[in-house]
Amino acid sequence: MYNPKSMVADEFINDEEIQETLKYAEENKNNIELINKILEKARPIYTPSPRGRVGEGVQPSSQKMQAHCSVITHREASVLLACEDEKVWERIYKLAEEIKQTFYGNRIVIFAPLYLSNYCVNGCVYCPYHYKNKHIPRKKLTQEEVKAEVIALQDMGHKRLAIESGEDPVNNPIEYILDCIKTIYSIKHKNGAIRRVNVNIAATTVENYRKLKEAGIGTYILFQETYHKKSYLELHPTGPKHDYNYHTEAMDRAMEGGIDDVGLGVLFGLERYKYEFAGLLMHAEHLEAVHGVGPHTISVPRIKKADDIDPNVFDNGISDDIFAKIVALIRIAVPYTGMIISTRETQEVRERLLKLGVSQVSGASRTSVGGYTEEERPTDTEQFDVSDQRTLDEVVKWLMELGYIPSFCTACYREGRTGDRFMSLCKSGQIQNCCHPNALMTLKEFLMDYASEETKKVGEELIKRELENVPNEKTRQIAKDNLEKIGNGERDFRF
Ligand code: SF4
Ligand code: SF4
Repeated sequence: MYNPKSMVADEFINDEEIQETLKYAEENKNNIELINKILEKARPIYTPSPRGRVGEGVQPSSQKMQAHCSVITHREASVLLACEDEKVWERIYKLAEEIKQTFYGNRIVIFAPLYLSNYCVNGCVYCPYHYKNKHIPRKKLTQEEVKAEVIALQDMGHKRLAIESGEDPVNNPIEYILDCIKTIYSIKHKNGAIRRVNVNIAATTVENYRKLKEAGIGTYILFQETYHKKSYLELHPTGPKHDYNYHTEAMDRAMEGGIDDVGLGVLFGLERYKYEFAGLLMHAEHLEAVHGVGPHTISVPRIKKADDIDPNVFDNGISDDIFAKIVALIRIAVPYTGMIISTRETQEVRERLLKLGVSQVSGASRTSVGGYTEEERPTDTEQFDVSDQRTLDEVVKWLMELGYIPSFCTACYREGRTGDRFMSLCKSGQIQNCCHPNALMTLKEFLMDYASEETKKVGEELIKRELENVPNEKTRQIAKDNLEKIGNGERDFRF
């Protein structure tokens, strides 16, 4: 039976409930009265902020007003996804853009993945690291190699990493992951530093999650791959990952272990997207119902070509248009959750999705073990094909030219603003006084230390312009002073 508060996977991701949701969505996809009601419910409501501040030309995303969204349910969101009326979709896209602007403004957080090891005992049929793949070279970074990779990443300007590793209790035990995290945080090359390490490793025990928490990780990310249990079992025929319930209940164990920022995601293309979409939102509802805090991020990867993987074998692939619809609806359904798009996608697709709700992008990624220290992007141990192959400098410049502020901010994690404390920042209307100056200060660091002359020029102009959009006068002045100090060689300021 469906129960979002249950701790049993089959009950909070309940197949019967998803089937009924899809039926309900299909029956109501032309019910314009209901659709209007759902869109009205999802619309942000702006109220005067108790901590109203000075400043003219106030946008909803900034001061004086605080915004609040009533969260729509997985059933309601599924009705919108089923709708085929172009006019309704114009309204959905507009609403997604408004919510994006309200809660995230024009900032885009940047990160890079770091592959530690591709040893894996699982048999996932869509991933080239599956244990049956005997011709892919197996690699595991030594601590010296981790150091070299991190220096290469720091030299590009990265401050935030997501570490990735296959599941292999012999080659990649938790102690190895913890050692790597320690190494990563310890390296300070020139002005570089990795200030937040997010972790994407296999589902594990509460005890191990506690160890990760103690090691100072940011978000724990685990993709569900698919919420459809039968398909899940077929797609993961062997290895510990075969256990659907253990995998699906991992976020609850992570939270029990003290990690309060968790990141969800499905691999679109494995199953029917409407099923996955409903399951994803049910998972978010479950976390909110049990832990009082929803997912920190949602990633939206699509299946890609890799070593012995042909994406065409999977017949649930989604077009760019459907993908855009999913992203817009995730933005509307979980307005306080960050959304991540990787370099699996092309520049064009990323550009479209940024507008609709994506708040974090990876840049200059190498999806192979040891890839950052190679001159040319190595492909022999890649987990997936990288579509967007630009340098970080190019990605930063591109974002700025589109009107976004590339942000290397990691302040919340370092100030202990995680879980519900982060959510209250998000809901309080203070984001413009916090994320905005933090984005500008971290961008300034990037410009000073790593950017090309051209990027620097675009960036300096942007900072000057955007500084005026910090609503609170005092905050703006502090940010201005800090920017000057960064210009004079000081680093690491934050609100
Ligand atoms: S998806 Fe993860 S668990 Fe599965 S084979 Fe690839 S690395 Fe291993
Ligand atoms: S201040 Fe916090 S929420 Fe805002 S960008 Fe920085 S880390 Fe993210």
